[in-house]
Amino acid sequence: MDTHLTLPGHAWPQMQPGWVWLCGAGPGDPGLLTLHALNALRQADVVIYDALVQEAILDWAPQAERIYAGKRGGKPSAKQRDISLRLVDLARAGKRVLRLKGGDPFVFGRGGEEAQTLVQHGIPIRIIPGISAGIGGLAYAGIPVTHRDVNQSVTFVTGHDQSGNTPGSLDWASISKGSQVIVIYMGMKHIAQIAAALIAAGRSTHEPVAVVTTATTAEQQVLETTLGTITDDIANAGLEPPAIICVGQSVLMRQVLDWQGQAAGQPPRNLDPLGRGRPAELA
Ligand code: SAH
Repeated sequence: MDTHLTLPGHAWPQMQPGWVWLCGAGPGDPGLLTLHALNALRQADVVIYDALVQEAILDWAPQAERIYAGKRGGKPSAKQRDISLRLVDLARAGKRVLRLKGGDPFVFGRGGEEAQTLVQHGIPIRIIPGISAGIGGLAYAGIPVTHRDVNQSVTFVTGHDQSGNTPGSLDWASISKGSQVIVIYMGMKHIAQIAAALIAAGRSTHEPVAVVTTATTAEQQVLETTLGTITDDIANAGLEPPAIICVGQSVLMRQVLDWQGQAAGQPPRNLDPLGRGRPAELA
């Protein structure tokens, strides 16, 4: 990869020794990094990265030491403290530390906890937001996370709590009633219970659902299904995490907006999947 892409003229911030920059890497496609992320990758002495960060992104920091801090759902808590303290140690050793996290560091990513630990230890920080999988991953599947004809709000929820169980604290009935579109992170393990809870709360078994795995990467897979059939369909398709699950009518927009399928030669399946009859801007 050419790592010499020139950043446009701008007073780009300099990483100073002893600082930690907590940075979102986006959902996978390196093109979805921000310019601030690229600027940080160029300067870091050490990059400490998660399982969800694509290796190709690290090629933008050939000078940096790489430290893998991966952990996948269910068994995180003990290690989280170690990671935070590792960041403190690296900063105290005078390194320019780039903490690179999948998506956005403050969206279901424990970025807030790490940042808090750093500040509590007197380490100066900078936060670089990233494109979250629940927005950018759906966009790569041709699903607008809000669409005027469908939803005026969207709810982002996690399918796991700290113990790895379905969050008991989540009021699925309220979520179901309050939001036309529900975007679920880390939902694969407990999808049967989540779907049952939404149906029990009044959502139709026919409600469209999309499951987007390894979104924005070359391995991206998209399953279009319904609340009633999602559990079997995920199993039959052999889908594995990481996945974003989107519940709601906006999933139908993929029939017209599957831009990757169209680029591969598949015509749009339906130019007006919501049955508006004419382009929205004329309505
Ligand atoms: N901070 C991240 C989320 C971390 S939680 C963000 O803002 O995107 C981890 C969960 O994010 C995964 O279990 C999955 O639900 C989702 N996720 C992250 N990257 C993904 C990707 N490329 N494709 C699908 N889901 C992804």
